Amino acid sequence: MSETFHDNSAYALERLRTLIGSGDLADGKLPTERALTETLGVGRRSVRRALEVLESEGLIWRRQGAGTFVGEKPDEWGSHVDALVDGTDIMEIMEVRLRIEPQLAQLAAMRAKPAEIERMRMLVEKIEDRTDADAKELWDGELHRQIAKSAGNQLFLSIFDVVNRIRQDAAWQAIRERARRAGSSVEASHQQHHLIIDAIEARDPGRAGEAMRQHLLMHQERLIRATSLDASGMTETQSTALEIVEDDDRLITSS
Ligand SMILES: [Zn+2]
Repeated sequence: MSETFHDNSAYALERLRTLIGSGDLADGKLPTERALTETLGVGRRSVRRALEVLESEGLIWRRQGAGTFVGEKPDEWGSHVDALVDGTDIMEIMEVRLRIEPQLAQLAAMRAKPAEIERMRMLVEKIEDRTDADAKELWDGELHRQIAKSAGNQLFLSIFDVVNRIRQDAAWQAIRERARRAGSSVEASHQQHHLIIDAIEARDPGRAGEAMRQHLLMHQERLIRATSLDASGMTETQSTALEIVEDDDRLITSS
């Protein structure tokens, strides 16, 4: 055994953490076990054990035949969700949201921890503080996700995440933007967020669910209005008005 050879898993783990942390790996891919054994000067068994630990920590992931990669394993839902995006329209998303989010708010009213409610309040502040629609949307998504998370049901949260990912698809950005402008009910939306959180804090599932339902119904109504404008119901005046507000180039005018 040479002086630099360590058959020690803890040593291997430390070296691998440094290697991963250095960010020097091409394409985020780790060298093979054999190569690691050589470059780190540790036994293969130690390398293997250290990799197992890193994998359990979610710092690396392996794909059969392709190698070991740094980072979290990509969500297996990914490709399914891409296919779903192609086949789903925004009204379908609203139908699903209207059926799961009130239930999630109910459960949150029963299970949310004080720290989680505090975070909901903080997120509401962020939504209200932001002036650009894009940032508002982002924080709104975070608030809705926090409520879903506070429902304390992992499967429900996964379903929420899939819906949320479809919802964020770029194809619908323009419609959502238009809905926000057509609605001009930012104040009402803020008010509703407070009602939802108040009910959750008061441990009132019925009221929390109903407040969420009202919030989403208003959102749905605005979307319907926006998409029907989009579909051609738009008068010339409306169309011109939209073109003016669309000046910032962030919208696709399809009429
Ligand atoms: Zn909201």
